[in-house]
Amino acid sequence: MKKVNLAGLTLTKLEDFFSSLGHKKFRAVQLIKWIHQEGELDFARMTNLSKALREELADNCEIRLPEIVTCEESQDGTKKWLVRVEGGSCIEMVYIPERERGTLCISSQVGCSLDCSFCATGKQGFHRDLTSAEIIGQLWLAADSFSQFSRKSARKISNVVMMGMGEPLMNFENVVDAMTLMLEDNAYGLSKRRVTLSTSGVVPQLDKLGDLIDVSLAISLHAANDELRNSLVPINKKYPIAKFISSAKSYLEKLPDNHRKVTVEYTLINKVNDRSHHAHELAALLRDLPCKINLIPFNEFNGSNYKKVTKTALNRFRDILIADGYTVTVRTTRGDDIAAACGQLAGDVNDRTKRQKRFKESLQEVQPVKLLESV
Ligand code: SAH
Ligand code: SF4
Repeated sequence: MKKVNLAGLTLTKLEDFFSSLGHKKFRAVQLIKWIHQEGELDFARMTNLSKALREELADNCEIRLPEIVTCEESQDGTKKWLVRVEGGSCIEMVYIPERERGTLCISSQVGCSLDCSFCATGKQGFHRDLTSAEIIGQLWLAADSFSQFSRKSARKISNVVMMGMGEPLMNFENVVDAMTLMLEDNAYGLSKRRVTLSTSGVVPQLDKLGDLIDVSLAISLHAANDELRNSLVPINKKYPIAKFISSAKSYLEKLPDNHRKVTVEYTLINKVNDRSHHAHELAALLRDLPCKINLIPFNEFNGSNYKKVTKTALNRFRDILIADGYTVTVRTTRGDDIAAACGQLAGDVNDRTKRQKRFKESLQEVQPVKLLESV
């Protein structure tokens, strides 16, 4: 009989599970604390459970997580892990340390089916959805690698963003379960404002999201008219900009506190969407959406003909939006010496080996850290 994997179960699902075995519901709290607060994966060491229960769990269940294959560290402190999930595929997970916070960027799928024209993950195609255990497992692995469970080290991961590989809303239930565990006080207890879901616009799922969970929302817009967005983000042909924005607005309206804002992500690609008229068009489009705008300089990768925005075009674009009253941040390019920047994640082991060689060579030279401005 296949053992039940308990690693990705939310508190409610775990309570149902214990009830179905004829045990008291509070066992679920004990178990979730062992896994996600103590980092304990061996039932035998869960000492506040009776010996009989520990044996029953060991016979019928398991706590199975993905595995770290390698970890690379950038000169700017960014870390990237290659993580093997069941079946042998690999995904990538990135940690970005900043003065006030530490952000873990995690993946929701192996590859992505949405095929945005500027994204390395999209170019890779879609392999499969990650299970909730594989999604929350990434946070577990990162916390473990920082000795966060043993409390030997201060809490390093304050923020989680679903901005790694995959489109989170295309793997809806597993992503919602994993984010529920991130927020759960008996698990990671992260603040709802510090857990962010980024989507390229899967509108029907976005319409349901606010009924199930309260997390921060980022929308990957990248263009302010449908013609241009169709060519960058193909899902726009199905759910055009007006529908996407109105769905994001409804999401905000469902949240209990009314000071929340959507983050609008806009990847700037040289001469594609970075002209002054694009900025004016964006400013007009977002007029009624409570939002802040995050500009992301396009990160180049092998096989893409797009070029990075120039500094002049980036500043011009930003200034037009600021003049129009928007709060604008420019995403720092972090970890690009280890291809850990946005859109460079592809989980490719061979490519990684080549890069590591290049990275070692580059250490011989003195390289300025590429920082634009912190988000
Ligand atoms: N699928 C989700 C989340 C993962 S992508 C989404 O699309 O929102 C996370 C962010 O990185 C998105 O805003 C995406 O548009 C951006 N991105 C993808 N490829 C990029 C690249 N090559 N350079 C810069 N940003 C990129
Ligand atoms: Fe998928 Fe997001 Fe990449 Fe588009 S940008 S292909 S939705 S991961």
